[in-house]
Amino acid sequence: MPEGDAVRRAATRLDRALRGEPLVGCELRWPSLADRSLHGMTTREVVSRGKHLLHRLDSGMTLHTHLRMEGSWRVRPTRAMTPNTVRNNAIRVLLATSEWTAIGYRLGMVDLVDTRDEHRLVGHLGPDLLGADWDPVAAAALLRRQPHRPIGAALLDQRNLAGLGTIWTTETLFHERVNPWAAVGDLSAAQLDAVLTSAHRLLTAAAVQDPSRTPHAAYGHAGEPCPRCGRLLRAGPIGEPPTQRTLGFCAGCQAGR
Ligand SMILES: [Zn+2]
Repeated sequence: MPEGDAVRRAATRLDRALRGEPLVGCELRWPSLADRSLHGMTTREVVSRGKHLLHRLDSGMTLHTHLRMEGSWRVRPTRAMTPNTVRNNAIRVLLATSEWTAIGYRLGMVDLVDTRDEHRLVGHLGPDLLGADWDPVAAAALLRRQPHRPIGAALLDQRNLAGLGTIWTTETLFHERVNPWAAVGDLSAAQLDAVLTSAHRLLTAAAVQDPSRTPHAAYGHAGEPCPRCGRLLRAGPIGEPPTQRTLGFCAGCQAGR
C-alpha cells in the first residue's frame, strides 16, 4: 500500500504536470461522478495530506483521490495518448491539459467536493508527517489517548498521525529499537519523541527519493539477519481484524513485548 512518501511524490508529479493550465480533457470513471466534468477548469495545485491527494481547481472544487491498496498515477504527454491507452479499464480518472495527461489507475476513492469542505474528507487525520504544519507534540498527545494500544498499531492509525504505513512504521520502530507490540503507555516521553522524530525524518527523506534507492533495514527482510545484532528478523500481525497488518521487527534488539 502506498504510504505518505509515495503519495507526496505523486502530488508533486501531478502538480508539476497540471498546475496553471486549463483541463482540455476530463473523464471521471467513478459511479457517483459519472455526470460530472472538470473540463475548462484550471488546476491551482495538487497537494497531499497523509495518504490523500487533493487536486484543487480554480472553480473552487477539489478532486479528492486515495490510492488505497493498488492505485497509482501516471503522467504522459497528451499527444502520446492513444485510444488504446484510454480504453484501459483500470483507469478511474483522466485529466488532460494540452501538454500532459494524468492517468489515475485503480484509485480506491474519488470524490469531488467544494474546496472549503475538504475537511469532511481529511479532517479526521492527525498531524501530517510531511505537512508544513507537522506537530509532533499534538501527535504524541493523540497517541497517548490510548495508552494500552501497541505502538505499532497506534502509529498506523491515520487519526493519530498521517502518512505512515507498514514500511515506515517497521523502519521507524526498528531504528528506535522499540518493539511494535509495546504499549504506548510503556514508552517514556523521550522514547515517544524519538519515535516521532525518526518517523518524520525517514518519511521526509523517502518523499524526495527514487523509491528504488530507499533501502529498508527491517521491512521485507524477515528471515534475514538483523543488520544490528545478527538475529533473524521476523514479521508479525498487529492491530485487530479486519485492519490487521504485518510489521517486521527484530526480537533481539527491539526489546519489550
Ligand atoms: Zn537486531
